Amino acid sequence: MTTTSLPPQPKPNLDTEGFWQATKSGQLSICRCQECQLWLQPPLERCRQCGATTRFEAVSGKGSIYSFVVVRHGAVPGYLDTLPYVVAIIELDEQVGLRLPTRLLDVAPETVEIGQRVAVQLVDLPGGEFRVACFRQASD
Ligand SMILES: [Zn+2]
Repeated sequence: MTTTSLPPQPKPNLDTEGFWQATKSGQLSICRCQECQLWLQPPLERCRQCGATTRFEAVSGKGSIYSFVVVRHGAVPGYLDTLPYVVAIIELDEQVGLRLPTRLLDVAPETVEIGQRVAVQLVDLPGGEFRVACFRQASD
């Protein structure tokens, strides 16, 4: 793999650093209010509902496809040799409206449907030290 074919790398900031640390250690974690328990994605320093402090907590990694697109023309370095692939929005089981963008692994695009069950799989991102949260079709 040449340098030009490596995917873009995350650039963690104060709000997202906890997410990336969790994936490195093998866990999908989402920002959660420590007072009213609201899950917050994208992460925030303070809860948008009650203003209390937040922290990252592990989630089940299970959810359903909320929406998706099939990428047939490559625009992102690192994925040109995997066309076509599916980019999806996953609604996590923990909370209605708690959604995460992702790439679906090992799936034929024509078999993907909104509402299908999926489960997380953390994948090493080539060219750096990060692991990204991808999803694959699941039965439950
Ligand atoms: Zn709150």
